[in-house]
Amino acid sequence: MHAIRHDPSGTALKATPGPARFSGGSMKLNDPRLLRQYAYIDGKWTHGDGGREEAVVDPATGEVLGHIPWLEAPQLRGAVDAADSAFVQWRALRADERAERLLAWYDLLIEHREDLAIIMTREQGKPLPDARGEVEYGASFIKWFAEEGKRTFGQTIPSHIPNAALGTLKEPVGVAALITPWNFPLAMITRKAAAAMAAGCTVIVKPAGETPFSALALAELAERAEIPAGVFNVVLGEPAEVSQLLCDEDRVKALSFTGSTRVGRLLLEQSANSVKRVSLELGGNAPFIVGPDMDPAEAARAAVAAKFQTSGQDCLAANRVLVHESIHDEFVEQFVACMEALKVGNGLVTNIDLGPLIHQQAVEKAAAIVDDAISRGATLVHGDQSMAPGPNFFMPTLLTGVTPYMKVWREENFSPVAGITAYKDDDEVIKLANDTEYGLAAYVYTHDIRRIWKLLRALEYGMVAINSVKMTGPPVPFGGVKQSGLGREGGTAGIEEYLETKYYCLGAL
Ligand code: NAD
Repeated sequence: MHAIRHDPSGTALKATPGPARFSGGSMKLNDPRLLRQYAYIDGKWTHGDGGREEAVVDPATGEVLGHIPWLEAPQLRGAVDAADSAFVQWRALRADERAERLLAWYDLLIEHREDLAIIMTREQGKPLPDARGEVEYGASFIKWFAEEGKRTFGQTIPSHIPNAALGTLKEPVGVAALITPWNFPLAMITRKAAAAMAAGCTVIVKPAGETPFSALALAELAERAEIPAGVFNVVLGEPAEVSQLLCDEDRVKALSFTGSTRVGRLLLEQSANSVKRVSLELGGNAPFIVGPDMDPAEAARAAVAAKFQTSGQDCLAANRVLVHESIHDEFVEQFVACMEALKVGNGLVTNIDLGPLIHQQAVEKAAAIVDDAISRGATLVHGDQSMAPGPNFFMPTLLTGVTPYMKVWREENFSPVAGITAYKDDDEVIKLANDTEYGLAAYVYTHDIRRIWKLLRALEYGMVAINSVKMTGPPVPFGGVKQSGLGREGGTAGIEEYLETKYYCLGAL
């Protein structure tokens, strides 16, 4: 994945060398300075001291888009120094002063929406309209938390102690390390960073190596928004090395991670010694329940929308579609009809619905999951891989007769592979839906109010969407139960992750 390249200077550079261009691509950026290939620490663009670097590849074409440096341990500690000393001034600002800087950052994201979307499509692969949507979605967290930072109220507590006044103050926890995945390269950063920064924390972001350019463009815009040096830092490097150092560091007071359950467990363990605040947004394996009263065509349209967004590489993807046996066959027909309309290709091309998967291993995993299901009795209803337009593409695939013994049921498949299972009654579907180690999101489609209430109470998930595919956004708490994570992002709960509660007892009044 990486090659050694000598860095003769070995020094931190301020905004040099100049920004790179995407090589050979047909799309040019209006503002090429948004494409940065250096880490961003304490307001400076920074080389790797050891000369190690990683290539960033367009998953649709295999083209190398650029390189990013891998930082060495002293440089990573330098990022902690910077965030720690910037914390003193940043927390001392009034909430409305921090909001002003965050809103300037928000405006710049919106102004540069098109360039940010192009960068995202090229490094991640998702269709350009989806990338534009993610920029707006990601920016909306900055706007919302800029305002919410003004409302981090403490409490006044009726006193049980004679002649005393009791209450609580809300204070920022300190430096927060934010480790993010490649499937939403921009929004998974802003959902954390905006809450942390509005609360008065400084942040060190470690983006996924597959999609660092969106994170670095955010840093460029943070600089233009005059967010003070050291408040928003982006470090790059070998993932395990970077994470271990940030987890070990006592001065990093909070760790917020979005990614796989496997890595989340590891980071929770690594954070034990420094007893830091840990928030984990991990994998999902969403059930999509269709009641017997539903119109199969309406439910199938919704299920296809909930499954194939971002080519199925979405923690909210409807992986296990559970359909009442009375409408199963018609639902499958309608589901296939919707799938046939999906266009697969390079996300830069107009009218594409599904871009590539992130890399070859993801394609191999999807193929293995399909093979496993067929060998255990599932039926392949749709999905001809010979039609794939390139090596990293996987055609939308439908399996029926899926059972809990199959990998497609047990694992988060993170690909455009959907599985349908028929069920008899509500009790059976509750058991089936909860039969997973994950508990992030569930979808329910029915108009029967008693069924809605019964399922809502019984589903072991952090989020339940009823007759809706859309559910997320700045004002609502996003997060899971079971092995889908700890804590919440978004909403009032999202900013609490970055606040300490200080109790005071003011006696002798
Ligand atoms: P991942 O766990 O492989 O990587 C996430 C981050 O951790 C990246 O920055 C990566 O570089 C880093 N990392 C990887 N290996 C590491 C290691 N050994 N030690 C320390 N850090 C390491 O996840 P991914 O493949 O980038 O993303 C997909 C996963 O993210 C899926 O499981 C998906 O469900 C989950 N996800 C969850 C949410 C949510 O809000 N719950 C949102 C998006 C994605």
